[in-house]
Amino acid sequence: MNMAEWLVRTARRVPGAPALLSGEKVVSDYSEFAAKAARIGGLLRSRHGVEPGDRVAIFMKNSTAYLELLYGIWFTGAVAVPINAKLHPREAAFIVEDSGSKVLFVSDPEELSALLPSACTIHDLAIERAFDAVTVAIGAPVPRRPDDLAWLFYTSGTTGKPKGVMLTNANLHAMSYAYFVDVDDVLAEDAAVYAAPLSHGAGLYNFMHVLRGSRHVVPLSGGFDAMELCALAPRLGNVTMFAAPTMISRWLSAARQTGYSGEGLRTIVYGGGPMYLADIEAAVAQFGPRFVQIYGQGECPMTITSLSRADITNRAHPHWRERLASVGPAQSCVSVRVVDADGAEQPAGAIGEIVVSGTPVMKGYWNNPEATAQSIRDGWLWTGDMGTLDEDGYLTLRDRSKDVIISGGTNIYPREVEEVLLMHPAVSEVSVVGRPNSEWGEEVVAFIVASTGASPSPEELDAHCRSLIAGFKRPRTYVFETALPKNNYGKVLKTELRKQLSGL
Ligand code: AMP
Repeated sequence: MNMAEWLVRTARRVPGAPALLSGEKVVSDYSEFAAKAARIGGLLRSRHGVEPGDRVAIFMKNSTAYLELLYGIWFTGAVAVPINAKLHPREAAFIVEDSGSKVLFVSDPEELSALLPSACTIHDLAIERAFDAVTVAIGAPVPRRPDDLAWLFYTSGTTGKPKGVMLTNANLHAMSYAYFVDVDDVLAEDAAVYAAPLSHGAGLYNFMHVLRGSRHVVPLSGGFDAMELCALAPRLGNVTMFAAPTMISRWLSAARQTGYSGEGLRTIVYGGGPMYLADIEAAVAQFGPRFVQIYGQGECPMTITSLSRADITNRAHPHWRERLASVGPAQSCVSVRVVDADGAEQPAGAIGEIVVSGTPVMKGYWNNPEATAQSIRDGWLWTGDMGTLDEDGYLTLRDRSKDVIISGGTNIYPREVEEVLLMHPAVSEVSVVGRPNSEWGEEVVAFIVASTGASPSPEELDAHCRSLIAGFKRPRTYVFETALPKNNYGKVLKTELRKQLSGL
């Protein structure tokens, strides 16, 4: 089934319901949203000769037009290729070329046009709104099979070139249904706020909200602005949104300044990077019981595990701390295992690589059978994440396999050391990496961003670590920074930190 059918059905059922909002202002209702998408589909077919299965890229910041374009692309049966707007034009051009996109939607072509392959047409929305001049609309979305592609999701990648993750209609359907069962219900009164890039995880939330006929809100800032959200959420009411852990800590500091305590917020889904115990405890104390965690990756979008609202607020269970530091049990549509390098299942508590199988797992990497064969073996997706499963089926992430530090032949999981350092009041942010050492193989180095007004000494931090973790895990060196290098999705770039170390 074509993803656009959900939009068409909702538009028939509740045509006048508010659909797309820019800040508080309603830009279109569901009947207008569906009509625009159908006209964009018509334009793609009549003007650009787009056929079902062709790729169409979008290189734009968040806007309500973004959602119209996505559905326009699906109307014709084409495959959407959303590109992170923060990428360098060169990186965007790589994705356009790699995906073989026939058309690229941009709101500001800048120097991009010179870099693009000649087979791709640029459609500049600043010059021509995609739907204004078009009279031909496609009556109904072009039929699609479950195995047909809908979304080519270019992984953010903290190393190497991005790869195109092939997500099919079946993958996206499974992901959407699992959301209702394992993450949160979605209500017609909800307002899905897109404060993170629509090109990435946040964009996937549109499906559940289109199905239910809820509001889709793009904040006026177009992204994440903590002060704006403190003011916007109470006015919209029933806000539900995805937020990366770094967004939550920024929001928390703003909320403490303004006295905001979660008014108008229904659910914040967090994930995409490690949420430290101290941070989620503080967030629940400030905002209330409004959090749900998901663990997923582009290759299995949103759907590996989830940690429920109840688990996040429970302080009575004997293992509540361990559960809160975990990413929760497997979602209903997947099997999750922890295995050793040969694929043998590990006993409870033992660390190994996390593998997952089920309907939401990607079809493979676009034009890259070698990478696909490496990632999907015997039907299991190897996530590259290391973790442990406990007796109750809760999964705790340790680290990316490549981030594990091996010192004196013993594995050290940076996350554990980071958790301990973050418990120190003078530490605001931390990232731990390994540095080559002739005697030990590697030694532990901690990059620290101090809390405002604090200047912790290495001796003080060392004493703190000694009191809480084994001596061999203690950082041998502390590097103090004003900020940590992050990629466009707010993930700390450990590769950059390692590079920095080699030059120290
Ligand atoms: P991406 O494919 O860019 O969405 O990145 C996925 C990666 O982000 C995963 O493989 C994990 O390493 C990390 N990640 C996702 N969700 C979580 C989470 N809830 N906690 C910690 N790390 C996460």
